[in-house]
Formats: sequence, structure tokens, C-alpha cells
Amino acid sequence: MSGLTLHLANEDAMLSFGSRIAQVTEGLGVIFLEGDLGAGKTTLSRGIIRGFGHVGAVKSPTFTLVEPYEVDKIRVYHFDLYRLIDPEELEYMGIRDYFDGGALCLIEWPQKGAGFLPKPDLTITIAPHMDGRSLTLSPEGLRGKSWCAALALEYSNK
Ligand code: ADP
Ligand code: MG
Repeated sequence: MSGLTLHLANEDAMLSFGSRIAQVTEGLGVIFLEGDLGAGKTTLSRGIIRGFGHVGAVKSPTFTLVEPYEVDKIRVYHFDLYRLIDPEELEYMGIRDYFDGGALCLIEWPQKGAGFLPKPDLTITIAPHMDGRSLTLSPEGLRGKSWCAALALEYSNK
């Protein structure tokens, strides 16, 4: 299974797609979220994090750079690197611990961390399309491809 493109008409559709992503990943992997300010990266992250059963707020980690979540045995790290000036700062944050392979990492503005981030299993590019959003999913490697294959069963041709 290679990539997948879909259209999500509104915020609710974005949140439900997020919860399907949560299910297929089972809480392990790395997802890059690309798209301009206001594209919907944080909204999709909120859907994913709630999909694991998190009930509190999911705020944009613009100032903290990363926000950790723990639900049952699932760990999610939600990054927003928009304000990162030097990717080397990630080293000082102890970023390696976040990428120990036992968590799901969602990364907004991954290009700001170039050279200091692991390869993603999946890159999701979000763009405005009509009143909603178009999402392009580009997997890398077996894990990302199997996620896309599972998602395509429900979301292709929509
Ligand atoms: P980003 O994190 O990419 O800057 P946000 O998720 O913070 O973007 O904000 C996106 C805005 O777009 C929010 O107002 C949200 O309600 C809206 N939105 C998110 N997904 C969709 C969608 N599929 N269709 C229409 N509007 C959406
Ligand atoms: Mg955001």
C-alpha cells in the first residue's frame, strides 16, 4: 500500500479520522504533520490523542514545544516545533527519550527539527480544500504502509 489522499469536510470528520489513526498505530511510531498555520495539524492531533481515551484538553504545544500524554499504557508526545530556532535545542530537551520506540510521536513543523528527528513512519500533509481539508498520507517503511492499508479500507474514494 502506498499513499492515500482523502477529503475531510469538517472538524468532526478530522477528529474521527484522528481516532482511526490512533487505532491503527496502537500507540507506537512517528507521524510528521505538515501544512500551513491553521491547516488542522493540532485538530488532527487532538483527534488522535482523544482516540486513545484522553478526556482532558489537547492544547497546541507552541510554547512548550512538546506536550506529553499518558493513557493506560499508551504514551503520546505531541510536538509543535514552529518556534524552534535551532534544531540543536532538541538535544538539550533530551529528545532521544521521546523516541525510544515505546511511544507515538506526533510532530507539527518537523522541518524545523531537521537533522535531529527520526524518520517518520508516516507524513500527513494537510491543505484547505473547498470548505474542508485534503489530507495526503505518505508512508515510509512497513509500519507506515500497513497503517495506510488499514485506513484505505475505510477512507479511499471518499
Ligand atoms: P494548525 O495546528 O495546523 O495550525 P489548527 O488545528 O490549530 O491548525 O486549526 C485549524 C482550524 O481549522 C480550526 O479552526 C479547526 O476547527 C479547523 N478545521 C480543522 N479540520 C478541519 C476540516 N477538516 N474542515 C474544516 N475545518 C477544519
Ligand atoms: Mg498547531
